Amino acid sequence: MPPVFRFAPSPNGHLHLGHAYSALLNFDLARQSGGRFLLRIEDIDATRCRPEFEAAIYEDLAWLGISWDTPVRRQSEHLAAYRDAIDTLSAQGLIYPSFESRAEIARLVAAKEAARAWPRDPDGAPLYPGTAKSLPREERDRLIAQGLPYALRLDMTAARRRAGNLVWRERGEGPCGETGDVAARSEAWGDVILARKETPTSYHLSVTVDDALQGVTDVVRGLDLFWSTSVHRLLQDLLGISPPLYRHHRLIRDEAGRKLSKSTKATGLRKLRAAGASPADIRRLVGLPPFCGGQPTPPP
Ligand code: GLU
Repeated sequence: MPPVFRFAPSPNGHLHLGHAYSALLNFDLARQSGGRFLLRIEDIDATRCRPEFEAAIYEDLAWLGISWDTPVRRQSEHLAAYRDAIDTLSAQGLIYPSFESRAEIARLVAAKEAARAWPRDPDGAPLYPGTAKSLPREERDRLIAQGLPYALRLDMTAARRRAGNLVWRERGEGPCGETGDVAARSEAWGDVILARKETPTSYHLSVTVDDALQGVTDVVRGLDLFWSTSVHRLLQDLLGISPPLYRHHRLIRDEAGRKLSKSTKATGLRKLRAAGASPADIRRLVGLPPFCGGQPTPPP
């Protein structure tokens, strides 16, 4: 079976050099290995995603010389698949609803932090204190029936107990040089949100489900997502999914060494293009070898 690669942007802004690097690297690797290249639109956040950004993604990628298999998977069109996954996890008793607002959680954490250092996840956010886990079932049902907003969380302790110790196969390198079989540290994320009342999924859940449903064999993405893989590996185990290979790549940074964001206008592909940059210039700027019109390019 030929390998399957994918590029999975969120249409919540214009693509920048970091996206170009990730998309081109995936595309090159697919071509070098006789594999397939898929494009997935991660548009579950209805408040931030916009059709014009999606249209711009297609245009910018085509300008770069990238082509992809169709149809493109748009996550917003597959909410039933994520609901099924939530049901599978619920049936294992691993999901519970929490009803606190962000501000309430911040207050709960501040109260804990007054007493002792409170753990933070790999992205630096404080862990959810687990307050709602002990709510009796009738109380949960009552709050849901009242129409209160809620988040569905993974009971990490129970999930870890069920899955045991897991590793993922890393072909790139983590922030501290982790490679090969990397031990998943999903507990570092606490009781992560897997769905919300209004959006029946989350980044972690939909990326795991989609990579499996699309037959992705090689997940090649930025180093900023390295430790998220712990959660994905855990979900794969709980959902009976066989894990793909992972390769986390370096991030493209701006001149001050900062990670690029969608608001970093100077490195936006459209800006660079308007200033006269060619697709070959973009490849050079991100440190990829020239595109050889169908011929394999050496790996970076
Ligand atoms: N949609 C994610 C992003 O734009 C990427 C997800 C992934 O590659 O796993 O950062």
